[in-house]
Amino acid sequence: MNKFLTILFLICTECLILHAQKIQTPTEFLGYKLGEQFTPHHRVVDYYQYLATASKNIRLNEYGKTNEGRPLLLAIVASANNIGKIEDVRKNNLRLAGIINEPSATDQPAIVWLSYNVHGNEAVSTEASMQTIYDLLDPSNQRTQLWLQNTMVIVDPCLNPDGRERYVNFYNPVRNLVPDAFPFSREHFEPWPGGRANHYYFDLNRDWAWQSQIETQQRMLVYNSWLPQVHVDFHEQGINEPYYFAPAAEPYHQDISKWQREFQTIIGKNNARYFDKEGWMYFTRERFDLLYPSYGDTYPIYNGSVGMTYEQGGSGRAGLAIVNADGDTLTLKARIEHHYTSGLATVESVSQNASKAVSEFKSYFETSKANPPGEYKTYIIKGENTEKVKTLATMLQRNGIEFGYGSAKGASGFNYVSGKKENFKVEKNDMVITAYQPKSVLLKVLFEPNTFISDSATYDITAWSLPYAFGLPAFATSENLKPISSTSPEVFSTSIEVSNPVAYIANWNSLSDVKFLAQLLKADVKVRYSEIPFETGGNRFNAGSLIIARTSNDGFGKGFEQLLKSLAASSGVTLQAIPSAFVDKGADLGSDKVRLIHKPKIMAVTGESASSLSFGEVWHYFEQQIKYPLSIVRAQDMGRINLDQFDVIIFPDGSYPDPGSEKIQEWVRGGGKLIVMEGAAAQLAGKKGFDLKNKEEPKKNEKDLDPYGDLKIYENRERESVGANIPGAIYKVNLDNTHPLGFGFPGYYYTLKLDDKVYQYLDTGWNVGVLKKDNYVTGFVGAQAKKKLVDGLLFGVQEMGNGSVVYLADDPLFRGFWENGKLLFSNAVFMVGH
Ligand SMILES: [Zn+2]
Repeated sequence: MNKFLTILFLICTECLILHAQKIQTPTEFLGYKLGEQFTPHHRVVDYYQYLATASKNIRLNEYGKTNEGRPLLLAIVASANNIGKIEDVRKNNLRLAGIINEPSATDQPAIVWLSYNVHGNEAVSTEASMQTIYDLLDPSNQRTQLWLQNTMVIVDPCLNPDGRERYVNFYNPVRNLVPDAFPFSREHFEPWPGGRANHYYFDLNRDWAWQSQIETQQRMLVYNSWLPQVHVDFHEQGINEPYYFAPAAEPYHQDISKWQREFQTIIGKNNARYFDKEGWMYFTRERFDLLYPSYGDTYPIYNGSVGMTYEQGGSGRAGLAIVNADGDTLTLKARIEHHYTSGLATVESVSQNASKAVSEFKSYFETSKANPPGEYKTYIIKGENTEKVKTLATMLQRNGIEFGYGSAKGASGFNYVSGKKENFKVEKNDMVITAYQPKSVLLKVLFEPNTFISDSATYDITAWSLPYAFGLPAFATSENLKPISSTSPEVFSTSIEVSNPVAYIANWNSLSDVKFLAQLLKADVKVRYSEIPFETGGNRFNAGSLIIARTSNDGFGKGFEQLLKSLAASSGVTLQAIPSAFVDKGADLGSDKVRLIHKPKIMAVTGESASSLSFGEVWHYFEQQIKYPLSIVRAQDMGRINLDQFDVIIFPDGSYPDPGSEKIQEWVRGGGKLIVMEGAAAQLAGKKGFDLKNKEEPKKNEKDLDPYGDLKIYENRERESVGANIPGAIYKVNLDNTHPLGFGFPGYYYTLKLDDKVYQYLDTGWNVGVLKKDNYVTGFVGAQAKKKLVDGLLFGVQEMGNGSVVYLADDPLFRGFWENGKLLFSNAVFMVGH
């Protein structure tokens, strides 16, 4: 090789090395500066995929897909030393937590997890994630490369791609060429339903524990296989708020550890240092509390992490630039800068405290397992309703909570139903959950009958105890009971032993039964229900139990039994074959008390007047939970539709032009069934033709009147306004379970009260679910609201001509996790009015 060639070769080798190390910035890759426009999700995916090929220090995983088919990504960033050991670190971390029962090493990197854009229209977050991960990967960035020596960073660039794309696809077509900062220009107003929620309009930042949505289900599978030491959930708030970061506001749940409090402050102060340097405003310790367990800050906290919410001013209103109340122009560029700065400052704090974070994490789980918090050490769920217990088991498994069944001995403890301390036996199919396990804090938070509240001003509901949410009889005891078996002894029997049976029966007491019914109706199987309970062959069946008679279904021929078996199995239902229509007790199968269930054509009303969350719950229930067809109609189109094509019309919570129009009333009188929920029910109160009436406000007693009662202290204004509040408390509703709306329930129903709405008893209709005195169970209720919530109607049915109107004053489908309410709603849809 001559000298010239040698030089050329050297230069080229150097070029190659330089080229290999140089990673394109988001600006270089995307072709525009971050902040100049919103990046569509597929381009975000492109950039992350590019990084995965351009850098050796990243592992990119697609952990799932959204309802609309967009990929969900997770990028793990680690130093050259650690990148090859990702799987070892992950496993060791689970050993530290006691989830994997093997000896652990404490000299592992700390893990920090950054979650972006759970609310789709808080669209800055994903943009900021790209700049953040670029800095973490940039080999010339000495600060980040130093942090990565003892810290691993997991980045989820977008938790809610469907919602974010709804926002971006709204914004791009309506924006001015030069973004218009005038706050009332159209680019600052998203159309209904906005981009905040996911495809089914669920708020994914209320879903971490319940995991009703597929995005959450897929993400939590990975999250629980890691359990980071620190988790940040990036959000946006109103345009007039500057920035919020930890430490969080009161109330804190009482089981948040000293270290979790301390480290929030350490991280917050480090964020503040960078913000102060730039002169950026922020606030801490206000508004965002740590109580409700299904957020991106609390859920990680109850799982041993330091979980935090960061809120940039902006969100769906902000566009690319907007003038705020102070007359300042807030730009996307500035919003990116802030989230990027707090993200990196957090990684720095974690790195500076990495070994402490890891050892505190270890001791958190050791304490959780050896010395679980709270007075109750075992929770016992009675096993009679095997299908509902199975649903609960799935939820516990998803959260990594261990459980078993049966116990060698009985105990005494708190009875969730009576609210008293009682002795009880443990049957072999009762679920037994001991608190002596790594996830004891989460277990306590989800099961404790009363949530301790240090401060009544909270951001969300104050009661969610799972035995009530599921409507399952349960006990909590201070004794440590060990389960006998790790699996349920109850085998779902879909085997049909009887030869030539006259009918097959499924009890009616869980959503599984509803799924089964929905599949039968879709397959055009004729199904009946018994209006009264009955006994046959040693089994007792509730009113509402499904009866599938051989007669009426002759057309299916020989394959019928196989069809029933497979539908029962896929729905998780126990099916019983009976040899005779002559029953031991109750009505024989040919009685007129055994009614045919018509296959209903169902319409749900939606549009701008509907609450998107409430409508989304109805939509998700039909499409994803019971898989039954639903027509979705905008309220403004009701006038030009022939309603006779439908059997059921549902108005979710909302404020509609006229949910009780003459046209709708005429359709009801002709045999239709109108289901009105919450606000829609309220709209019919006092309206001509409807029996529903508002309850009068409770009168104040003369002696209660304080002559100075109207004098208020200005500083206490927020506290005092909570008197009328009810931010989600549980009440026990007396339920008439002989009425089809109450089928499958034990005579009571636990409702989640989100407001102080209660109605007068219906004069002529059926008062199926009512509040009496002393029906309060748990959760915060302001003093005025508590006075009002006695002696009134919550769930009722009015007969109107040949049809009926079902009033549901509360939301039985709340956030898709109020398992107890799904049966109530199903009764309204399928059982009422035959
Ligand atoms: Zn948010």
